[in-house]
Amino acid sequence: MDLKQHIRGIPDFPKPGILFYDISTLLRNADAWQVAMGRLAHAVAPAQPHLLAGVESRGFLLAAPLASKLGCGFIMLRKPGKLPGRTVSLEYDLEYGTDSLHIQEDAVKPGQRVVVVDDLLATGGTLAAAISLLRKVGAEVTMAAVIIEILALGGRDRLGVPATALVTYE
Ligand code: IMP
Repeated sequence: MDLKQHIRGIPDFPKPGILFYDISTLLRNADAWQVAMGRLAHAVAPAQPHLLAGVESRGFLLAAPLASKLGCGFIMLRKPGKLPGRTVSLEYDLEYGTDSLHIQEDAVKPGQRVVVVDDLLATGGTLAAAISLLRKVGAEVTMAAVIIEILALGGRDRLGVPATALVTYE
């Protein structure tokens, strides 16, 4: 199955000049959703994760069912003010301004292998921050996994771990 046929590009979202790759159409198609999960599971299993970490919010939609399928735990990397209890955070640069990701400080036991999951890899800033944050709480990050990679931005070179993507765009 060609998963690209289930992903649509929406021009000028969220700002003029940006082409937004939308996985909503993939998620709402039962067969495409099943195929995507199967392919991600196949790619991620060799990294032998104890935990899958999802990046809020579309990363959650992928990491949680994938973790269940692989028999792993699932942890959340969230935007500010969402997680209860003691948290650790990391600020990272966006095109304009900064953002931050947060994790519960006891989310990972020392040395646990973690694969980080998001919907899309563009500049790599988000996943690089996610990986740094996971390392701060003791994770051994073994892989990053996404549905979509934008190749021209070279994001995977910033990650320092192997990355797997189901579909790529130039
Ligand atoms: P990066 O940090 O530049 O790699 O951008 C990736 C982050 O931005 C991910 O968390 C994505 O969910 C989000 N993102 C950027 N562009 C798109 C897009 O076209 N579709 C869906 N998400 C996107």
